Amino acid sequence: MGEYILEIAYLIASVLYIYGLKMMSGPKTARNGNLWAASGMFIAIIATIFLYTDGSGNHLTNLPWIGGGIAIGTILGYMMAKKVQMTDMPQMVSLFNGMGGACAAIIGIIEFPHYVHDPNASFLILLTIFAGLVIGSTSFAGSMVAFLKLNGNLKKDIRLPFYNVLNTGLIIAAVGLTICLAGGHIHSNIELWVYILLGLSLSYGVLFVLPIGGADMPVVISLLNSFTGMAAAFGGFLYGNMAMLTGGILVGSAGTILTVVMCKGMNRSLTAVIFGAFGTGGKDVVAGGGDGTQKSYKQTNPSDLAVLLNYSSKVIIVPGYGLAVAQAQHVVNEMENLLTSRGVEVKYAIHPVAGRMPGHMNVLLAESNVEYDKLVEMEDINPEFATCDVVLVLGANDVVNPAAKEDPASPIFGMPILTVEDAAHTVINKRSMNVGYAGIDNDLFYRDKSSMLFGDAKKVLTELVSELKGL
Ligand code: NDP
Repeated sequence: MGEYILEIAYLIASVLYIYGLKMMSGPKTARNGNLWAASGMFIAIIATIFLYTDGSGNHLTNLPWIGGGIAIGTILGYMMAKKVQMTDMPQMVSLFNGMGGACAAIIGIIEFPHYVHDPNASFLILLTIFAGLVIGSTSFAGSMVAFLKLNGNLKKDIRLPFYNVLNTGLIIAAVGLTICLAGGHIHSNIELWVYILLGLSLSYGVLFVLPIGGADMPVVISLLNSFTGMAAAFGGFLYGNMAMLTGGILVGSAGTILTVVMCKGMNRSLTAVIFGAFGTGGKDVVAGGGDGTQKSYKQTNPSDLAVLLNYSSKVIIVPGYGLAVAQAQHVVNEMENLLTSRGVEVKYAIHPVAGRMPGHMNVLLAESNVEYDKLVEMEDINPEFATCDVVLVLGANDVVNPAAKEDPASPIFGMPILTVEDAAHTVINKRSMNVGYAGIDNDLFYRDKSSMLFGDAKKVLTELVSELKGL
């Protein structure tokens, strides 16, 4: 009886994951979607603890260990989630993703001794175990490197000599060893070979993320997400656990779709990400001209800008990472409402990799109740820049850098950008002439139609709003 209830609990959990994921596709419902999916996970965990029985009908006996693990994980997760700043979310997502990969790898490590010496173990079962181990450990190691990079503890692009040869060699060795182990072709020192496989996978995870520089991290982050999902799905297949299998497949396929979207957003090919580092072609350029020359730029102030905006008919706002750092999403909404009430048409231009995590700007602006239909995707908004009076770039840099179109030596060359330079006026708000995430200078700042508005985005926008109110 218990096992039927367990299967029904898994079915309910799977339905809740799918329903939750569906709700996550829109910012208004995303928060509740998370809660639905989490409640599915809760049901699956509780049902497994109390209803699971082994072949002989015995319930789980190690409840204090399980309870202890859950208690520690819950307390740590709760404290981290409460404390984390919005701008540190990408690091946390990488860390949590890495933990998922580690769990999937640990399943492989724990289960392989039960099967490798069993002559009845099929190739498929062994392949499931080793594939979970390889993908899970790659995801773990890669996510930890991504975490350190996003946290600023590691240099952005570290390239080893013969990188491509090394990386391709590691993949071939890991795949070959997996097939040999799963096919039962290794008869002695099997444990040693499994740990060598683990070492190869961890090394590949590190090497694969280490050299990713320029602005290409978003692709890697979403790819690592899909790896973790796949590795969990292998675990679900091994245990015949429907909730784990569905959860893994959903994460794996959602991550894969996101990777494809990110690759398109960056104009990169997936094979280039997996087999060789990219985004490292250019040299770092210091602000003000890499050749040592000082280029000149114009400056504006909130009072002049308020007048310009007030008499415009169309304004496009480009939000970027700096807007999130400044937590200026509420004041930007206030400014938008003021301008709209005066008959100015206002839209937001959303670049797919703006900020530090996929969908960062959508989440940020949804927080301040910006109407969702005012957020326009890059392909749709690009033709509109030529028809607008003012573009206000708020804490964005790489996503508006014309070098992506014009300079083949640039690390971001080929990445589609928001073509803000087409507008009659481009006003860029940031605190200094410093570079963005990709570490490269931006020629947009020195163009004739551009003006810099220096200062923290929240402070500057607050001044701008009060100037607008005075007009
Ligand atoms: P950038 O990182 O290119 O630029 C952000 C700019 O904001 C900086 O130049 C900084 O200049 C400015 N800034 C920082 N703090 C403030 C503040 N308080 N007020 C005003 N301005 C501020 O951001 P973009 O959004 O344009 O591009 C995102 C970059 O991050 C891309 O290269 C992308 O590939 C990468 N990335 C994206 C991920 C994703 O999933 N979206 C994940 C990982 C990386 P200053 O210091 O002068 O103020």
